Amino acid sequence: MHLIIMGAPGAGKGTYAEGISKYYGIPHISTGEIFRDAISKETPMGILAKMYIDKGQLVPDDVANAIVEERIKQEDCQKGFLFDGFPRTLNQAIEFEKVLEKIGKQLDAAINIDVPEEVIIERIVHRRICTKCGKSFNVVTLPPKQENICDDCGAELYQRDDDNYETIRKRLDVYYDLTMPLIDFYKSLNKLVNIDGVGKKEEVTKLIIDSLEAL
Ligand code: ADP
Ligand code: ZN
Repeated sequence: MHLIIMGAPGAGKGTYAEGISKYYGIPHISTGEIFRDAISKETPMGILAKMYIDKGQLVPDDVANAIVEERIKQEDCQKGFLFDGFPRTLNQAIEFEKVLEKIGKQLDAAINIDVPEEVIIERIVHRRICTKCGKSFNVVTLPPKQENICDDCGAELYQRDDDNYETIRKRLDVYYDLTMPLIDFYKSLNKLVNIDGVGKKEEVTKLIIDSLEAL
């Protein structure tokens, strides 16, 4: 399966992506996670990305495109992939189509997670992330079994620097301006799978897999 998952910040892309990638045995590749990893390691790309991410802006297209072009060529992507948070602009989507064509692959579906803004803001302010494996929790709706500790790897959880009220507003505006047009782009390619993202993690994940299986 060759998939992308889109949706506003906080829509639950990473959370649902986890179950989908397990089901199909394909790598879950989050560009946001790649940037956060680079930031924590203070690589040149991380230092650059941080300037944009802290302001709620997108990292420049050429940086995101280069990461994906490199990543998709790796061995684990041979049987498929699930990109989470990429593409995020029309330019990225068009470049991605070119990359896919170059390597002789086609996207099977573009999953769009639809969640109303009130739910998004609520999810973002309550979000906590694992410092080690990047897994997301929600202190209200999806709490870890042990407070502030990752269920999967036992590392400590933290709140992302960009998960604060001021930055969320900016990220939502960027989403409406630059990312939402991708819904029509993938609809026109006949690849769009639209999903109501409000609900329990297991229920929404099942809904997505059922919709993909029905294609
Ligand atoms: P969220 O969807 O909650 O915003 P992500 O982890 O997907 O979280 O992204 C975090 C930040 O990383 C984004 O706000 C953006 O600045 C940057 N980012 C992630 N993916 C991309 C991309 N494809 N293009 C540009 N910037 C990106
Ligand atoms: Zn973890």
